[in-house]
Amino acid sequence: MNTVFDWKLIKSTLMAPAAVIREAVLGFPQLLLKLDAPVSHIMERWIQIPFARGYKKPDLEVEIKLAAMIEEKTEDKELVYKLVTIPFAEGDKELLQIWYDLAQCVMENRTCNIPDYYPPDEESDDLGSLEQRYHIYDLLFNFSEKFEGGFFSGHIMEAKKAISDSITRVLSQKRFKSKGCKICGRPLAWNYRFMTCQRCFEEEKYAVRFRRRRR
Ligand SMILES: [Zn+2]
Repeated sequence: MNTVFDWKLIKSTLMAPAAVIREAVLGFPQLLLKLDAPVSHIMERWIQIPFARGYKKPDLEVEIKLAAMIEEKTEDKELVYKLVTIPFAEGDKELLQIWYDLAQCVMENRTCNIPDYYPPDEESDDLGSLEQRYHIYDLLFNFSEKFEGGFFSGHIMEAKKAISDSITRVLSQKRFKSKGCKICGRPLAWNYRFMTCQRCFEEEKYAVRFRRRRR
């Protein structure tokens, strides 16, 4: 899962009113891979076919882009499909490079040494770098599962667990640190719902009223 640590997305998903599902999303029919055309072309054409009401096609924009990057190197369209359906944030250059390298390796039927791509083990409190390392392991996990018989999966799972523990620790520390009045810094109870303490809130309210009256 790519979005495990996309906090904004998680929050907006949780806050959004439950949507009524009106359309069923159709999966790409893999049978079409037998057609005599590159995977990206087949997908592009399939997307353009009008569909019966009540059915929605998945957005294959990313898969098409990735397929176009690698499909010239192999005749094996099932393999291309397997590679382009690995979920990762393809907009991230580092992740895209790792995916591309490993895809080449798989297509050339070489033994891919997944541990070469492990991110360096470092103690970090930076959420951005923790998340990035998590995403890298996520991508490597998929390669391990799909192409290496899960040989490296155990180690990768442990590494992911350690990173997610670090993220939890950093987040809880942050929360404690920020628990103070935004104006005067007076400590606030952990369950206090406002950014400023009661006194600053009252003062602020009074000041606003006072300014209005003087106008
Ligand atoms: Zn205050």
